[in-house]
Amino acid sequence: MSNDNSRKLYDLALKYIPGGVNSPVRAFKGVGGNPLFFKGGQDAYLIDADDNRYIDYVGAWGPLIAGHRNEKVIAALQAQLQQGLAYGASTEAEIEIARRICELVPSIERIRLVTSGTEATMSAIRVARGYTRRDKIVKFEGCYHGHVDGLLVKAGSGALTLGEPDSLGIPKAYTDLTHVLPYNDIAAVEKFFAENGDQIACVIVEPVAGNMNCVPPVPGFLQSLRTLCDSHGSVLIFDEVMTGFRVALGGAQSVFQVSPDLTTLGKVIGGGLPVGAFGGKQEIMDMIAPNGAVYQAGTLSGSPLAVAAGLAMLDIVSEPGFYTKLQARATTLLDGLQQRADAAGIPFSTNQAGAMFGCFFSEHKNVSQFSQVMQCNVEHFQSYFHTMLNNGVYLAPSAYEAGFISSAHGDTEIQLTLDAAEKAFAAINA
Ligand SMILES: *Cc1c(COP(=O)(O)O)cnc(C)c1O
Repeated sequence: MSNDNSRKLYDLALKYIPGGVNSPVRAFKGVGGNPLFFKGGQDAYLIDADDNRYIDYVGAWGPLIAGHRNEKVIAALQAQLQQGLAYGASTEAEIEIARRICELVPSIERIRLVTSGTEATMSAIRVARGYTRRDKIVKFEGCYHGHVDGLLVKAGSGALTLGEPDSLGIPKAYTDLTHVLPYNDIAAVEKFFAENGDQIACVIVEPVAGNMNCVPPVPGFLQSLRTLCDSHGSVLIFDEVMTGFRVALGGAQSVFQVSPDLTTLGKVIGGGLPVGAFGGKQEIMDMIAPNGAVYQAGTLSGSPLAVAAGLAMLDIVSEPGFYTKLQARATTLLDGLQQRADAAGIPFSTNQAGAMFGCFFSEHKNVSQFSQVMQCNVEHFQSYFHTMLNNGVYLAPSAYEAGFISSAHGDTEIQLTLDAAEKAFAAINA
């Protein structure tokens, strides 16, 4: 496969853009080699600057659950283009997407749209602090909630890939208020709440961790957070920017039957356009301006284009059986990968939550702890990544990212992926 054009573009990008990329994990630092530049996508495929085609398991890092250029999404965008791009004022479509999300995710009684997942978590935390009039927050090791100052502590994939657990440029005073606990460790959370519970404004958690590869909650973990927040008057925030409309129609909260006070969304609900949202109990959301004294705003919030794409996406994922089919296909993929890894004698295991999944080059089965994620064999992953790439399969260029499947991935794509994987496992042994 030729990568000449990508190579040239990368050299050019380095002249104008720090590291040549607009988001760090795109830079291939976690796998080595030259990052690819893309010029198109169609259904399950990405097309790079050298006209190579790849089966795509990144899906724009989650949003593209119906594949590239889904015709319903494109048609909705074309219709909106005829009407205008932005009005800086309210639209009927905003009400429609808010209504639809409130109906599909019953814990959300009121919702506000923003422009990214980062903005959603930042705003949710501000509301939680305003509502409780407390300052301290709890997050979990390996969970990523966007690049919000106070949340960029032990924040998972992007930072892990670059070997920097935390970021420079964040005053210690900000992160002093952020308490980081181990994911899936119920006893640690109970202990922390016993000592500090009455000072905790909120707990923010990825209900399926998707930024330290893919790690589902152990039984009882989310429920224990619910119970502890209730008994100490703290707000429970589920960051479903990744899991919302990805693991199930009602998000991870519908799968695990735990209702948060606030939910953050993004990715899928924008259909591929920049979007985020946060919502939850009316009593808490009414703290926001203009009703209340928690300020939050956005020039392009509720962008008509993003809302049009999002509404089309909600139509698609609401079709009966959408998630059942997708989940079955992901299971076929993971079972096939496991068989081939076993046959090659490579230590390997997988996790799945609906249409997202994790692959671990590890002896551990059912990986559930951050420390287990960190014990994975990164050299094996790097070798696997490059063989897959050379055989037309595009994976996230980091051992710490989740994988995403779309409804455009058919039996053909799964089989091609498994054929490539067989070579990739063999190449690790070679
Ligand atoms: C992607 C992600 C974010 C950040 O969203 P952006 O749109 O990249 O700002 C926040 N939380 C989770 C769980 C995410 O996966």
